[in-house]
Amino acid sequence: MAVYAAAAAVLAGVETRQGSIKGLVYASRFQNVKQLYALVCETQRYSAVLDAVIASAGLLRAEKKLRPHLAKVLVYELLLGRGFKGGAGRWKPVLDRHQARLKAELARLKVRRGVSRNEDLLDSGCKPGPASQVPRFVRVNTLKTCADDVIDYFKRQGFSYQGRASSLEELRVLKGKSFLLDPLLSELLVFPAQTDLHEHPLYQAGHLILQDKASCLPAMLLAPTPGSHVIDACAAPGNKTSHLAALLKNQGKIFAFDLDAKRLASMATLLARAGVSCCELAEKDFLAVSPSDQQYCQVQYILLDPSCSGSGMLTRQLEEPGAGVPSKERLQALAGFQQRALCHALTFPALQRLVYSTCSLCQEENEDVVRDALQQCQGSFRLAPVLPSWPHRGLSTFQGAEHCLRATPETTVTGGFFVAVFERVEAPSSVLVTEALPLPEPRPSPVPKRKRRRRKDAATPNTLPCT
Ligand code: SAM
Repeated sequence: MAVYAAAAAVLAGVETRQGSIKGLVYASRFQNVKQLYALVCETQRYSAVLDAVIASAGLLRAEKKLRPHLAKVLVYELLLGRGFKGGAGRWKPVLDRHQARLKAELARLKVRRGVSRNEDLLDSGCKPGPASQVPRFVRVNTLKTCADDVIDYFKRQGFSYQGRASSLEELRVLKGKSFLLDPLLSELLVFPAQTDLHEHPLYQAGHLILQDKASCLPAMLLAPTPGSHVIDACAAPGNKTSHLAALLKNQGKIFAFDLDAKRLASMATLLARAGVSCCELAEKDFLAVSPSDQQYCQVQYILLDPSCSGSGMLTRQLEEPGAGVPSKERLQALAGFQQRALCHALTFPALQRLVYSTCSLCQEENEDVVRDALQQCQGSFRLAPVLPSWPHRGLSTFQGAEHCLRATPETTVTGGFFVAVFERVEAPSSVLVTEALPLPEPRPSPVPKRKRRRRKDAATPNTLPCT
């Protein structure tokens, strides 16, 4: 163990600029200077490769007590060095447990980079891509707290609050213990990419929802008014449902459907933790939900976030850059379902507004589905021209596609995503719609739980640009 621990200490010292490798190796008083020096230099040389493999194998997430520098040295020895010949101490069985996954991740990395030898990985560009620069977005659950209180809590914990961001670049370069308020969403905090808040007490208590910014767009753009009836057609695991409930202030009703019993079970836990009380969960095929059922006669809003290829998902981009392209057959099957679900949703009689979203970047699941649905509904719905300042628009494959929103790590510093907002062209004659439709742009923060102080950086969200 001694040599690995000593190497980890040297690496940490180099990173914090306490000295050069040579100086720190000599200062370590480790007897076999040559062995230690070689181990540190080799680990350092493969640093980016090791980071990529350790991240995609989820080693540090699984082994919380294993410090990153020691992990790097041990994984170097296991995969690229001479293997453990004793000396790894209590970490040997731990590394043994992860060995198969680590080896598989190294092999996948080589395949992706089109190389066969380990050394060739050094020239093949293991630099962090834009996906790894996407920050950790944290939505404040306004059913339980408010942004000001959460900001104060983090400040008391030693985090440094930088105010409301005014550009996307500020999000990309966040470091250390700094955090910001998102320039577009007033209840969204932004932390550096590596921040892990899964164990944080505010997350555990349901005050925070760990949700990518792009995935906050659907509920925000649907903007149901408190008291209204909403369908969440493909709802589990429920992050967007809890966002809808927060916008409704728990007043009104959400009918949430999903086919998958397991996902619904974890959704029920998530909603209970988030304090959601206005939602009815049902294990049901949305295509079998009848629009003429009296239960749904007041449904003015539908959120449709159906199963998709997930080709825009960050985890996929981080683990398999460029490998997220699904087969033609799979795309066809997914698009077929998405198309049917969208056309079905548009037949609900009182429907005024619908948001269609996917975490896919494929045109077949996005613009093509939207275009066909618009054609089939024969002019009764149109695309709402939402968020005019959003920098990435739908692919111009049909007239009006620019009203759709796209998101990618490169353009919006978020996961890959697609959103289209449908609005009814005329109110149906059989339904009396008394409420004015809300604006598609973001609304001011809901009423906070305690008297709100004016934030230095507070601004009207409607006037803020999103870049
Ligand atoms: N909106 C969810 C959220 O924000 O947490 C994510 C939804 S996920 C992309 C798609 C969901 O659709 C899956 O949970 C899947 O089980 C569900 N699903 C697939 N086919 C369905 C159907 N015919 N009816 C209802 N749900 C369906």
